[in-house]
Amino acid sequence: MTEHVDIAVIGAGPAGANAALAASRHGLSVTLLDEQSKPGGQVWRARSAAILDAPSTPESAAGGALRQRLQNSAVARLGDTRVWQIERTEDGWVLHLLRQGRVEQRRARALVIATGAREFVQPVPGWTTPGVLGLAGATALFKQDLTLPGQRTVVSGTGPLVFFVAAEIRRLGGEVAGVITPNGRGDWLRALPAMLSRPDLLLRGARWVADLMLAGVPIHWRHAVSTVAGDGRVAAVGFRPLDADWSPVGAERGIAADSLCLGNGLIPAVEAAELAGVALEHRPELGGWLPRRGADGETEVPGLFLCGDGAGIRGAAAAEIDGRLTGLRAAQHLGAETASERAALRPRYARAARFGMAMTALSMPRKGLAELTTPDTIVCRCESLTGGVIAAEIAAGAGSTNAVKSGLRAGMGACGGKFCQTAVARMIAAAEDRAEAEVPPPTARPPLRPVPVSALAGEFDYSDLPIPKPAPL
Ligand SMILES: Cc1cc2nc3c(=O)[nH]c(=O)nc-3n(C[C@H](O)[C@H](O)[C@H](O)COP(=O)(O)OP(=O)(O)OC[C@H]3O[C@@H](n4cnc5c(N)ncnc54)[C@H](O)[C@@H]3O)c2cc1C
Repeated sequence: MTEHVDIAVIGAGPAGANAALAASRHGLSVTLLDEQSKPGGQVWRARSAAILDAPSTPESAAGGALRQRLQNSAVARLGDTRVWQIERTEDGWVLHLLRQGRVEQRRARALVIATGAREFVQPVPGWTTPGVLGLAGATALFKQDLTLPGQRTVVSGTGPLVFFVAAEIRRLGGEVAGVITPNGRGDWLRALPAMLSRPDLLLRGARWVADLMLAGVPIHWRHAVSTVAGDGRVAAVGFRPLDADWSPVGAERGIAADSLCLGNGLIPAVEAAELAGVALEHRPELGGWLPRRGADGETEVPGLFLCGDGAGIRGAAAAEIDGRLTGLRAAQHLGAETASERAALRPRYARAARFGMAMTALSMPRKGLAELTTPDTIVCRCESLTGGVIAAEIAAGAGSTNAVKSGLRAGMGACGGKFCQTAVARMIAAAEDRAEAEVPPPTARPPLRPVPVSALAGEFDYSDLPIPKPAPL
């Protein structure tokens, strides 16, 4: 029989884990599911067994505390569990899972979706060369395995993550050949008033930049990576100055390096919420397309709640409080009284969200950055589709991401469009002189994550298959 709980939470990052803990404290049965083996999400990712004794960092300490709180709670945890389909029923939700190579189902009266974000990388010539990593993705290497991207790394991207990654590489003994960021110093100065809402985080960021400057690492403000050279491995990184709209202007220069961390902001992972029936809206100040939600994670779909970066990029500090608010709201939906607890949390949430949104504003790519994608650049890496091929499809009348997907398979590969769909949407908007708000991502379809056919088919012996008798003539 399929297990039936009060609340299922998808995503055990700061948002989902805190939602589960908050709801569980009100006596409800809660199951927390995540495809990672241990809770913590992206920012508080757990360490592998080999590096458990490494010196503590703010992220490892926060993640350790969260895992301890979950351990001491009544929350049931399902790690290494991928949710690949979500169905709404008369009395709640059915989640289709992939666990240990098998498919399973779990039922819940209410559902909290906290699936976080993924990063956007503006495709440039050579970005698929081995040795190029996502900027946010590189943080997983440090946190989980204390591994460096290479011997000599260029770190490039928007917002605060570029300085965090560069500072971490240096802390772990690596060499940073240069930092390249589309943001100008003026962008950071304009963000200062909002950053003062969290002086602790502001100070931490200032230390990263000071460390790089004292070490003589060149920081190229208002520049972007324009090419990656190397035969089978990164050998050099080309970069160009940008204008105010981040269009490349001026000549390319180069830096010798064996690795590159490259990223241009985070995008809410909206597919699970969309599959559960929530409409999307375009909110550039929160990372672009995101599922529509109301106060404390409530949605228009009864029994469905959303929190964390998947409902708008506000950063880890806000995700944690957002998760608590949403878990409490879900508990209230099932009869608990949580209104006063939520009212007490909201001012803290507003402060953290203000800081996070200032970082999102710094991280969001401006329009001109898309010009770095040349006709020869691979845009859809699963299907090896270049910018030129996609541009021709758009010129032939494919005016939506769904149309480009059906025509060329861009987004039908193993990544399910997670790498290319934003770049394709931006290409359509630029080619047809439309706003990005007019070009939504492709319609979400199951499976949310790849599922092996063998898992769906289950174990069977061919000889046991009933063979229908021939139809009478
Ligand atoms: C790769 C990456 C690295 C980042 N590194 C940092 C960093 O170092 N510092 C920082 O301040 N911010 C970082 N961020 C931003 C940071 O993730 C968020 O601000 C914060 O973690 C948001 O918390 P969350 O709980 O909303 O999402 P997350 O922490 O992303 O948690 C979402 C969880 O949902 C799970 N999940 C998603 N879909 C499914 C599914 N279908 N089935 C099962 N589980 C699923 C994921 O495995 C993940 O654990 C990073 C973002 C990304 C994408």
